[in-house]
Amino acid sequence: MRRLAALLLSPAPPLLLLAGVAAAAPPRPAPQCARTHEEAVELARTRGKLIFLTVVVDHDAENRAVVENVFRDKNFLKIAEEFVCVYANVEDQHGKVKTKGPDGKPLVRCADVPSIECRDHQGLAANWARGFYPSSDAKTPVHFVINAKEEVVETIMNGSFEQGFNHVPADEVVAKLKALLQKHGKGLSEEEYKGMQELLTDAKAARARNDVTLELQKLLPVVALAKDVEGVRGAQARVAEIDKEASKVLADAEVLVARGGVEEALDALAKVAAKYPGTLSAAAAEKDRKDLEGRPEVKRLLKARELYQEGLKLKEKGKADLARKKFETCVRVYADTKYGELAKKELGAAPSGG
Ligand SMILES: [Zn+2]
Repeated sequence: MRRLAALLLSPAPPLLLLAGVAAAAPPRPAPQCARTHEEAVELARTRGKLIFLTVVVDHDAENRAVVENVFRDKNFLKIAEEFVCVYANVEDQHGKVKTKGPDGKPLVRCADVPSIECRDHQGLAANWARGFYPSSDAKTPVHFVINAKEEVVETIMNGSFEQGFNHVPADEVVAKLKALLQKHGKGLSEEEYKGMQELLTDAKAARARNDVTLELQKLLPVVALAKDVEGVRGAQARVAEIDKEASKVLADAEVLVARGGVEEALDALAKVAAKYPGTLSAAAAEKDRKDLEGRPEVKRLLKARELYQEGLKLKEKGKADLARKKFETCVRVYADTKYGELAKKELGAAPSGG
């Protein structure tokens, strides 16, 4: 049977101070709900979740079915975790349950939704929920799905705003929420959010110390979360800013390439890649470096350098004969390079092996 006009218009009755006579009943399952609309919007914005707002009144079977059936449904409770849940009910006679806060202190909460107090859902009904109705017919029960900009993206209802509503069965609510989640994408879990905040704090500290490499190492995993939330957007913007700085350093290195200062250029490019890991400039520097190293004359120069440096190391260790062999090969094969010249000098300076 369809309930016609359950109105939200009744003014909030005075709060009865029942805290002292709290019932001992343990809390029953219900979604975790935000206490204020500001909290709900903040959670939606920072976690990238949609808001699932339920509007009900008491003393009506169809309205109570939302709390007694939908809110206790296991599948609903599971998918509800992917949304910021808000419960709006202008009445307050739900009984009280004892629960514990995050600090372990005992709390007295609404028996319908033990994460909040009756005065929270009264305030939400009176001051916020009404704003989502298309007309002044504030009928219930109804669910609004709202984005962080406080726009209604979906109304989950069984009936009409003119005629009134029956409750939407749990499996239908779950199916609608699943479809919305697929379309909108999952937000951040509390654990992911906490991890992101820690990375952002570390990135800020690295920035304060001018350690751009460490800053990037902290920012890049945040960017990789690829969620439309404040933290990720901030990290993206900062990485783009750093990349701009890196592109200037890259341009300087590329001038060295153009001038033909091969070793200087390779060093400068390697520095860009090492200092700005994960940026577009670092990728471009790596590519420039590989291209440069791929040139035949550069390959020869690097091989000559390798031989010459091996010779120097052997000389330092007192292995003069082995060192001489390296220098000789260097002179023979790479006489046209700078290192062929240097090796020749080494051979001239060394006491003859006899
Ligand atoms: Zn309540």
